[in-house]
Amino acid sequence: MPKLDPNSNDFRAAGHKLIDWIGNYFDNIDDFDVLARVQPGDVAKLFAAEARERGVSYDTLLQEFEQKLLPGVTHWNHPAFFAYFAITGSQAGVLGELLSAALNLNGMLWRTSPALTELETVALGWLRDALGLPSNLFGIINDTASINTFLGLAAARQTAAPDVRTKGLTKTLRVYCSEHAHNSIDKAAVALGIGVDNVVHIASDERFRMLPEALEEAIAKDRAAGFTPCAIVVTLGTTSTGSVDPLPAVGKIAKRENIWLHVDAAYAGPVTLCEEFRWLWEGIDNADSIVTNPHKWMFTPVDCSVLYTKRPDVLREAFSLVPPAYLTTSDGAAVNYMDYGIQLGRRFRALKLWMVLEHYGLEHLREVLRGHVVLAEQLSEELERRDGVQLMAPQMFGVVVFALKAGDAATEALLQRINASGEAFVSNTKLQGRYCVRVAIGNGATEWKHVAKILELVDGNG
Ligand code: PLP
Repeated sequence: MPKLDPNSNDFRAAGHKLIDWIGNYFDNIDDFDVLARVQPGDVAKLFAAEARERGVSYDTLLQEFEQKLLPGVTHWNHPAFFAYFAITGSQAGVLGELLSAALNLNGMLWRTSPALTELETVALGWLRDALGLPSNLFGIINDTASINTFLGLAAARQTAAPDVRTKGLTKTLRVYCSEHAHNSIDKAAVALGIGVDNVVHIASDERFRMLPEALEEAIAKDRAAGFTPCAIVVTLGTTSTGSVDPLPAVGKIAKRENIWLHVDAAYAGPVTLCEEFRWLWEGIDNADSIVTNPHKWMFTPVDCSVLYTKRPDVLREAFSLVPPAYLTTSDGAAVNYMDYGIQLGRRFRALKLWMVLEHYGLEHLREVLRGHVVLAEQLSEELERRDGVQLMAPQMFGVVVFALKAGDAATEALLQRINASGEAFVSNTKLQGRYCVRVAIGNGATEWKHVAKILELVDGNG
C-alpha cells in the first residue's frame, strides 16, 4: 500500500533548514524592501500552467520559494511596515502555528479534541482578565474581526427579530455606527440580510468620535418611521485615526433603548493590557459583544480574532441547530464551539495565542506596546515641528495621520516616495476631504530608526 510520506527523514532535514531560514529572516528582515516591487501578473507567470506529475524535493521547493515568491512578498513582518495596521508574526506565534499544523486538529466538537476547546476557553479567560474586561464574558476565537462582527450582529439580529431563523427577515432592521466605523459592519449587514442601506452612519465630532446626540436622533427618527433598531456599534480605535467613540454615553443609550451594543476594539483592544489604557473600557458593562484582535496588536500571527459576549446563549440561539445524527455526542456540559457560529471545522488558533501569552508574559508584552505608543508620540511631535506638515488627527495609540500643507497632490507624491523607497510602507486615508498619509506603528521589532525614515523622506532627504 503506498504511503504518502514513507518516513520523516526528508521532513526533518528540510524542517531544520526551514527553521534556520526563518531565523535568518527574522534577523535580517531589514535587508528586504518592505513593499513588493512587482506588477500584477509578475508572480503568476513564473509558474507552469499545470501541476507536476512527479513531485520534487523540499530543497527545490525552497529554491523556488526564494526565487519566484519572495520577490512578490510584501513584508508584513517588517519593522518599517506602517500601513493598515502593522502586525507581528512573532517567534512564539510561528512556533505555535508549526505545532498546530503538525497536530492538524479540528475542534468542531469538544470530543474532536478536548485540548483545543479547553485551551481556547482557558487562554480567552486569561486574555479577558489581562485586558481588564468584565469576568462574565464568554470568548471564542475566529479568523478575523470581520467574521466576529458578523457573529455579534447575528446575535443582535436574533434579539431584534427572534423568528428570523425560521421565517427570514420580516421587518427592516437598523444598525448604527459612526461614519468612521470599519466597513466590516456594512459587509455583515449584507450577509445578514439587513442591507447596507440600513446601516446608519452617525456623524462624528472634530476628533472623529461618534456624536451620541446624533445617534439618539437617528434612533428616534427610525422608530417613528417603523424601523426596528437592531444594534449599535461602538468603535474603540477606528481604522483611519484610532479615534475612540464615547462608549459610556452610547452604552447608556443602548441600554435605555434596549438595543444590542457591539464594541469593535479590533485594533486598540490589546493595548488595554496596560493599565493606563483601561479608560478605553469605561462603560463596557453595557456591551453585549466585543471584538478584539490578537493578530493586530498582540504579536499573534494572522489569523486570531476574539469575540467576547456576555450573552453566549443568544449567540448560540442564533446558530445552533439540532445536530444531525453524525454530530451528536453525550459529552454533557462540554462546550462545542461549532454551536457559536457558522463554521463546523475550526483550527487550533488558541495554541499560538497561548504560546504568545506564556512565552513573552504580560509584562514584556506591555513594554513592547508602550514602546509603540512612545514611537507614535515622538513621530507626531516631530511632524508637528515641521512647517509644511499638518497633523490631521490627534495621535492615538500607534496611529499618526498627517498631510502636507502644499495640498493633496504633494501629500500623495510623498506617500509614493516613501513606499517606493523600500524602506517604509505607509497607507493613505481621507479626512475632511483631504488626502492623508497614515502611519500605524505596531510591529514587535520596530525601533526609532525605522520611524525616522518617514521623517527623512518628509524632509526630502530619503
Ligand atoms: N475593525 C477595525 C477597527 C479595523 O481596523 C479592521 C481592520 O483593519 C477590522 C475591524 C477588520 O479586521 P479583520 O481584518 O480582522 O477582519
